[in-house]
Amino acid sequence: MDEMRPLKEYMERRDFARTPEPEGEMGESGDRSLFVIQKHDASVLHYDFRLEVDGVLKSWAVPKGFSTDPSERRLAVPTEDHPLDYAEFEGVIPEEEYGGGTVLVWDAGLYRNLKEEGGKAVSLQEQIADGHVSVWLQGEKVAGGYALTRTSEEGDDDERWILVKMDDQGADARRNPVSTEPDSVVSGRSLAEVRQEEGGS
Ligand code: MN
Repeated sequence: MDEMRPLKEYMERRDFARTPEPEGEMGESGDRSLFVIQKHDASVLHYDFRLEVDGVLKSWAVPKGFSTDPSERRLAVPTEDHPLDYAEFEGVIPEEEYGGGTVLVWDAGLYRNLKEEGGKAVSLQEQIADGHVSVWLQGEKVAGGYALTRTSEEGDDDERWILVKMDDQGADARRNPVSTEPDSVVSGRSLAEVRQEEGGS
């Protein structure tokens, strides 16, 4: 990753004259950190998990989406950093563009860092570099601790992580929000409704 040019990869992959996605601009990180889970009906349906870290959204594609069952392991594949304002994006990316397909905000909220060492918080940057990320999510559909663990070498072309719900009050093996709560938390729309309302071009 090119540390000198955050969002370089995001910008290089997109033609902003053709896609309605936000143009890359660095955000100002406040003391509240955002997370978002975007449902993305691209060539393969997946859920993009994004965490605000140092002014950008660190991102993983989770093919099966979030579980509330601590015994479930979900594959998470890192993708390029996204700009902060991407967290509000719902719309239709043209089919011929990178990531072409429909996007809705499946869940969103604030998160906090759960990892400490010697009474001191370990930064998310450090956790990502170490391949062990622990966060507490406060969303509408998912809540509580989630752990992301890298299972391959850092920087591998096919770097892989595993996402697991921690066993806490947000855990519930009987829920399955991916199937029972499929629509947007911001607009209430389904993928089909987003496609219908914003797909015309
Ligand atoms: Mn995606």
